[in-house]
Amino acid sequence: MRQAMAYAEVGDDVFGDDPTVNALEAYVAGLFGHEAALFAPSGSMANQIALQLHVPAGGELLAGADAHVVTYELGAAAALSGISTRTWGSVGADLDVDQIAAMIRPVGYPSVPTRAIAVEQTHNLGGGSIVPLSTLRALRSVADEAGVGLHCDGARIWHAAVADGVALSEYGALFDTLSVCLSKGLGAPVGSLIVGSRERIAQARVIRKRLGGGMRQVGILAAAGRYALENHIDRLAEDHARALRLAEALAPLGVVDPSRIRTNLVPLDLSKTSLDSPALAGLAAQQGVLIAPMLPSIARVVTHLDVDDSGLEQAITVLGGLLADAS
Ligand SMILES: *Cc1c(COP(=O)(O)O)cnc(C)c1O
Repeated sequence: MRQAMAYAEVGDDVFGDDPTVNALEAYVAGLFGHEAALFAPSGSMANQIALQLHVPAGGELLAGADAHVVTYELGAAAALSGISTRTWGSVGADLDVDQIAAMIRPVGYPSVPTRAIAVEQTHNLGGGSIVPLSTLRALRSVADEAGVGLHCDGARIWHAAVADGVALSEYGALFDTLSVCLSKGLGAPVGSLIVGSRERIAQARVIRKRLGGGMRQVGILAAAGRYALENHIDRLAEDHARALRLAEALAPLGVVDPSRIRTNLVPLDLSKTSLDSPALAGLAAQQGVLIAPMLPSIARVVTHLDVDDSGLEQAITVLGGLLADAS
């Protein structure tokens, strides 16, 4: 990947003439069966650009209460775009399509018109869970009927595709826009893309520049992303297998149900232990195992391309020891 970056041909992407960026955008659009894509510096910016494409100021976005766009983007939809967000309460990937359909409000004074629905795939706070294709198809019908946009926060959509054997183009066909991350499980240092129609992506380019996300000789980063896409998607199955192995090893301690582990995220429920998640993360870090405190009682373990079998065994030993002492 570093070599691909070093040898990348570059131009000025603000003028649309960085060949490596243009090639990456065309490649990713093709993967999802869409017309166009746009490189963005982060997944949050990619999501926020997509939301602006769908929702004018004063319009409404529907999303899950535990969605990244609601929980981890610092109120950006409201702060930057004047978007009003209303949330459904279902957990992670367990979407109730009828409930979402009933929430949609039509355009017309004096209500706040619903303009878009955002879905996360895989679901981060849902522990890497996957929204089934059948649910997404039903949601697509709902969006079509109501005339609202459907956006996928697909930061980890690669994981869903590998775990469920669904082609990326199948997901692509169900959404008006998708944001996808190169910098999570795929292991590129930086970068996300927004995927959609030629018209929407032309508008996305304007919004990106307005947000300060237009970058110049960014082919260096695009080359890393291209390398990641070509070399690091199929191997996600290894991360999923390791995540399951970790969950099975820790299951006897009562902190995780392995049957719920679908991809590379393993949420550990600490509510029946004497540790909260910052405490567990701190103790594990002292023994060389890095995990993320998500909620006070939930710690998140992530398997990825820098965790090999011996690293996994170390994580099992360290976390297993700490949790056994705390239960
Ligand atoms: C990481 C992530 C993003 C984007 O985050 P950035 O740090 O801004 O790149 C978006 N959605 C989900 C579900 C994520 O996990």
